[in-house]
Amino acid sequence: MKRTHHCNELRPEHAGHTVTLAGWVHSRRDLGGVLFIDIRDREGRIQTVFDPSDLSPEICNSAASLHSESVIEVVGRVRQRPQGTENPKIATGQVEVLVQGFTVLNHADVLPFPVDDPEVANKVNEELRLKHRYLDLRRPEMARNLRLRSKVATATRVFLDEQGFLEVETPTLFKSTPEGAREFLVPSRVHPGQFYALPQSPQQFKQILMVAGVERYFQLARCYRDEDLRADRQPEFTQVDIEMSFIEREDLYSLIEGLLKRVWKTALGIDLPTPFKRISFEEALNRYGIDKPDSRFGMELVDLTESFRASSFKVFSGAIQNGGVVKAINAKGLACATQGQIETMTEYAKSFGAKGLAFIKVEGGEWKSPIVKFFSDAEKAALKSRLAIEEGDLILFAADQWLNACEILGKIRLYCADVLKAQGKLTLDPQRFDFMWVIEFPLLSFDKEMNRWYSSHHPFTAPVAEDIPLLKSDPKKVRGQHYDVVVNGVELGGGSIRIHQPAVQKTIFEEILQIPAEETQLRFGYMLEAFRYGAPPHGGIALGFDRMIAILCGTTSIRDVIAFPKTAKGACLMTDSPSAVSAKQLRDLHIEVKAARKD
Ligand code: ASP
Repeated sequence: MKRTHHCNELRPEHAGHTVTLAGWVHSRRDLGGVLFIDIRDREGRIQTVFDPSDLSPEICNSAASLHSESVIEVVGRVRQRPQGTENPKIATGQVEVLVQGFTVLNHADVLPFPVDDPEVANKVNEELRLKHRYLDLRRPEMARNLRLRSKVATATRVFLDEQGFLEVETPTLFKSTPEGAREFLVPSRVHPGQFYALPQSPQQFKQILMVAGVERYFQLARCYRDEDLRADRQPEFTQVDIEMSFIEREDLYSLIEGLLKRVWKTALGIDLPTPFKRISFEEALNRYGIDKPDSRFGMELVDLTESFRASSFKVFSGAIQNGGVVKAINAKGLACATQGQIETMTEYAKSFGAKGLAFIKVEGGEWKSPIVKFFSDAEKAALKSRLAIEEGDLILFAADQWLNACEILGKIRLYCADVLKAQGKLTLDPQRFDFMWVIEFPLLSFDKEMNRWYSSHHPFTAPVAEDIPLLKSDPKKVRGQHYDVVVNGVELGGGSIRIHQPAVQKTIFEEILQIPAEETQLRFGYMLEAFRYGAPPHGGIALGFDRMIAILCGTTSIRDVIAFPKTAKGACLMTDSPSAVSAKQLRDLHIEVKAARKD
């Protein structure tokens, strides 16, 4: 096939040229016997004209009978479109191709949904789109996402290569290391009863690569987590996985800032300002009620503990006496919140164990609230000035232990922002990207039910050096050398400086995380051993690649940037997987299925 041009290329200067184009029938119009067919290929679209005065009746009939998305090749002459018929919406809108000859390369059946309608994503059930993903991916919006993904992958590789990184592939048939998310297991045929696990991340291999002297490693790594899926999760996803030796946190920050600067410039032409701001975990919680703040709008949490310490409103003073705090946010302009919206917010508070949600609506010059009558004049004055209360405001309170109070208001703050956005009272510039590093996370968190400590990030994260003496005496105070990179309220990635001394790592496993010595040996023995033979200090990070592409494409769903994603139930609707396997396959794998269920 001798295609001379792509469908996006022709311009008025090509007028008079004879060209050969190949692609799909995007759309068709019949104007009094003259047939206009827009042909689309990967690069774009162009109008072709089938004029019965130039062509045989067979050709005209054959063209007229084509369904959308049939594959054709046309030979024709480029000409300037007659005045008034130009289409400014497409790059080739000044010209058209007068068809001289044409071949049907393949007929398409009637489509399950139209490919040429830009509103398809809103009109057509996503399951239908996923079942016929090859059609969905033909839509220019999806094709653009795939292209951008490829461009960003290349930019990432080029940048990291320039910085001296080696791309190393690590195994996807790994060993089960149950911690964090549930794993996908792969039965071994040659080792009856034994299983590989698909890696949740290449964490251990990349650390071993540092022991192996690689110094700078990266990989666009496929990772697997068998979790109940939420809107923005997939059972398999891609991370830009990075590890470096002989570094400190600062080195990592500047590397990632440089990488993201390159990516944003390549993908969107935007110059990201660097360095990114930094905020401690504690400050993030105090001000935004979340460890991945969206700082594009205010509505920050205000601490009112001192103002209500001696309040006669017992819900507040009682919480403070129990070691808690009183915090509030001012959702400006939301005094109009409906009963239903207040109930939704109350449910958030209750999901954190609060009994209810205290609020004040400022309407008609009045503070409308069942609790205001309990406040003294001094308390009211403090509220008014600390929260800058004005007509139309909605004040929401949380009185609880510090973390709970912060998290309740953090959730409510985001909900209020969504309501304000829907009402047109809050507009966020889609070209604005508020990057920040969230740092100084606690190394350990306490699991009340299990009555033990667990790693806030993962067990390989190094404690801040000066906090190491507190590990056994006051674990809660130990800060980890962990960092997250956050943009517009989305955690784009996270990593840490790692423990490289085998003795410290063993203490963390056995004494702090209380993993029995034999289990530590079984699960991590090879790592502890490797560390005894000269492990350099090292650290790294993983960036969520799908999430990054979704942000760059301006979509909220990572399914829109993955060629063949799974549904929320982990199914691929196109290939119909997962699927049952034959009795012989199961026998070979020494597997017996007790209950085969098909939902
Ligand atoms: N392996 C970690 C993760 O997947 C990232 C890292 O610490 O580099 O979250």
